[in-house]
Amino acid sequence: MAIKTRLTRRNVLKATTLLMPAAFAISGCATMQREPKPTVRSDDPVARAVLYYPNSNNVPTNHPLAATHQPSQTCATCVHVRGKAGDYLRKCPTFPGRLINAEGWCSLWAKS
Ligand code: SF4
Repeated sequence: MAIKTRLTRRNVLKATTLLMPAAFAISGCATMQREPKPTVRSDDPVARAVLYYPNSNNVPTNHPLAATHQPSQTCATCVHVRGKAGDYLRKCPTFPGRLINAEGWCSLWAKS
């Protein structure tokens, strides 16, 4: 016994109504995975407050917050850095929701 399915406007609308939420959910998940987090720039207000520089070599040594700075100190060797060792961009609780450069430095640096 064969079931006949008719391609009526009603059936098309029903199928669309049922499949649309799933399509949006799938595309939304794919979009979230692809969106990169913004990186912190040195002109960011929080970055300026803690003297964050994406490259430790560019930290102004005459700045009062850089009194103890050494070029060998980088975010990659800081106790606060999060994420996978070796990654160029890492997470730091000082900048929630954004990424910092592993070669960067800020005045909150502490040896890990
Ligand atoms: S707290 Fe550490 S890891 Fe975070 S930005 Fe400053 S130096 Fe880098």
